[in-house]
Amino acid sequence: MPTSKDTPAPDAPSKDTHSKHAPSTCKDCKPNPSPNTPSIAHLVAPLPTHPEFEHDPLLPQALGEVPAPAGQPDPALRLRRTLAPIVEPAGGVLDPTVFRPLKLAGKSRLSHDTARYRLALPRDTDTLGLPIGQHVSLAATIDGRRVVRSYTPTSLDSERGYFDLIVKTYHHGLMSSYLDHLPIGGSVDVRGPKGQFNYTPALARHLLLVAGGSGITPMYRIIKSAALDPGDNTRMSLVFANVSEEDILLRNELDHLTTKSNGRLTIHYVLEHPPPGWTGGVGYVTREMLEERLPTGGPAGGKVLLCGPPGMTKVVKGALKDMGYYVPRRPSMLEDDIFVF
Ligand SMILES: Cc1cc2nc3c(=O)[nH]c(=O)nc-3n(C[C@H](O)[C@H](O)[C@H](O)COP(=O)(O)OP(=O)(O)OC[C@H]3O[C@@H](n4cnc5c(N)ncnc54)[C@H](O)[C@@H]3O)c2cc1C
Repeated sequence: MPTSKDTPAPDAPSKDTHSKHAPSTCKDCKPNPSPNTPSIAHLVAPLPTHPEFEHDPLLPQALGEVPAPAGQPDPALRLRRTLAPIVEPAGGVLDPTVFRPLKLAGKSRLSHDTARYRLALPRDTDTLGLPIGQHVSLAATIDGRRVVRSYTPTSLDSERGYFDLIVKTYHHGLMSSYLDHLPIGGSVDVRGPKGQFNYTPALARHLLLVAGGSGITPMYRIIKSAALDPGDNTRMSLVFANVSEEDILLRNELDHLTTKSNGRLTIHYVLEHPPPGWTGGVGYVTREMLEERLPTGGPAGGKVLLCGPPGMTKVVKGALKDMGYYVPRRPSMLEDDIFVF
């Protein structure tokens, strides 16, 4: 099984031969005969409430799931205000109010439960149009129900003609299983940009980024953008926690970015079950690990970005609160000391 070590460096030419051609022209791009497996069929109802729906009660109307009451403004207009990014879109394929079907152009497994999905933009010259720090919504009709979930692409807008998602497959997870079984050439609906975070080189002198597992995706896009930009002087300290060494996503890419960053990026890998001879952190993320890497001068010196499983974010927020950080509202806002994705 390929691991993250098999993936190309972020700015190296792609070796993914399946990403740029029409799937029908490639003998290796055979459609999966069963896009919807019976394993998720019993989960159709009730769909668990998802954070996506907590912030905008009109979202179901805008998605056409319930009719808008007569006399009320077009829900799509409200959606544009509530879900639209805090900056103008960078010009690209994305629209914050309209889902566009985009085709799966390539897929590669990165770990036992996580894969990289490459979605083709309509033209080779197209850019996605996603500000750094923001994410997209994916939607699909799965066994008769409209399912919408958020994902953070790992590619930059400078990568034209496609964008990449790294998605962990959950047993019985609706969207992640749908993607896992999506054949090359199959489509999923995409809308965006979304989110309250907008990274610019002027945002902070120093960022402490704390990620767990697939929570690396928003951090990775920020790090990639900052490390590859010679005009960006932001210092970045990443604490990246995983269960075992095989679970570390994008490790080659992250190590490559460390080299490219001219000393601005340092990474502390933390493993719950380290292999013999492991020299990184062991166990869970601790207060000491954070303290050693926090921006000098506390909250005034820089921000903390956080993305990972609920247990990890709770412990990290508690430790930071003890160290004088203001624990953020939910959802986090750009001006918060700690931004939780
Ligand atoms: C801003 C943002 C960005 C994100 N970016 C990424 C990203 O880049 N990559 C990524 O992998 N994820 C990302 N996520 C998480 C993603 O949005 C989904 O939540 C995730 O993929 C799971 O969705 P799902 O439909 O597969 O699972 P769901 O169907 O939502 O299920 C989630 C879990 O609940 C369990 N479950 C489902 N139904 C039931 C039931 N009836 N009874 C009991 N258990 C049940 C499933 O087994 C699974 O473990 C992001 C989330 C946010 C908010």
